[in-house]
Amino acid sequence: MAVGGCFCGKVRIQYSGQPIASGLCYCLDCRKLTGSAYSYNFIVDNTQLTITGSPKEVAKTSDSGNHIRNYFCPDCGLYMIRPEL
Ligand SMILES: [Zn+2]
Ligand SMILES: [Zn+2]
Repeated sequence: MAVGGCFCGKVRIQYSGQPIASGLCYCLDCRKLTGSAYSYNFIVDNTQLTITGSPKEVAKTSDSGNHIRNYFCPDCGLYMIRPEL
């Protein structure tokens, strides 16, 4: 089981299975979201994912034209999850 959360602890994530896949992404959105050269992502089964707290949703159209939604802690601002690609 994997557990984690944001910097202030108000949003928590728990996953009970193994990730379906993982990978690196270095697109502009991922670089802005992480403040790094790339993001490291896991694809997981939503039925095994539990989120507590109230993450804030920010939606936009990516440079590739895909509609994406990202979630952040509303208090500390830490980027938490992107539920779809
Ligand atoms: Zn927080
Ligand atoms: Zn990306």
